[in-house]
Amino acid sequence: MCRVFRWKGDPEAHNTARVAWSTVVKTKEEGGLGVKDLLLWNKACCLRLIWLIFFRPESVWAAWFKEVILKGSVSNYWTTKPSQSFSWLTNKLLKLRDVAYPLIHLRIHNGKGCRFWVDNWSPYWKLEDYLEGGRSSLEGQVQVLSFITTIMFSEESDYYKWEIRGKTRKKYSTGEVYQYLRGIVEVVTWARAIWISRGIPRQSFHAWLVALNRIPTRDRLIGWGLQFPLICLLCNTTDESRDHLYWGCNFSYQLWSLVASRCRINPLRSWGSSLNQMKTLPPPNKTQSLTLLGWQATIY
Ligand SMILES: [Zn+2]
Repeated sequence: MCRVFRWKGDPEAHNTARVAWSTVVKTKEEGGLGVKDLLLWNKACCLRLIWLIFFRPESVWAAWFKEVILKGSVSNYWTTKPSQSFSWLTNKLLKLRDVAYPLIHLRIHNGKGCRFWVDNWSPYWKLEDYLEGGRSSLEGQVQVLSFITTIMFSEESDYYKWEIRGKTRKKYSTGEVYQYLRGIVEVVTWARAIWISRGIPRQSFHAWLVALNRIPTRDRLIGWGLQFPLICLLCNTTDESRDHLYWGCNFSYQLWSLVASRCRINPLRSWGSSLNQMKTLPPPNKTQSLTLLGWQATIY
């Protein structure tokens, strides 16, 4: 519904997205629009409930979940299977255990609270899987045994730690978990030429589509199976594509040359070098902003 509304302004309309939703939900620095991925956000909110069960035993809901669903031990979370007798939410939380598992580590002290096969206490994660329930090769078993010899046992009780990317956290942050669930996404260098302060949203948005090569140029329309002559409407000499329009085409290049001369820069002909020039404009900031505004307006 979000993606249809994004492109048509009407959630009931037919979806004609120009850019994949997986790109739209990236941040602007990563080449997206910075729209929140609600499915992942929902998952991050559900993980907060699992965090409550492990780390906030004083919560009435967490205490109820532990006693009634997990039969008195939070470790049972790793082995309790969804059931028809549970509520929809309970089953949803139980199904999320593989997502929660890497985040909830057991710190061993006296070893009494540790479920050897299922708790996340070793660098090999769930030993039930790693050692295939004891049927694995000797090499795996030796690795686990040698890890056990490095553990310093003490009188203290074992306890769970909430760890995100190797860092222990005392509090739950939905935003941090959302970023963790998104994974590491590479940033794009051209975002600074598109999303500018005091930019005109309509023009920035169009420049974003051009940067992604998602404008309906004739080469793309023909690629979708539509019947069109491929020739450029502006110069009538070469096939129309993103790279031809910006700025291989004589007509559009003349226009850009006019604007570029007012901005006191050398207008480059290829799209790649023009984009590169825009993201590395020299200071001062006011001249940068005006040049980028002129560039985006010409593209639009
Ligand atoms: Zn042309």
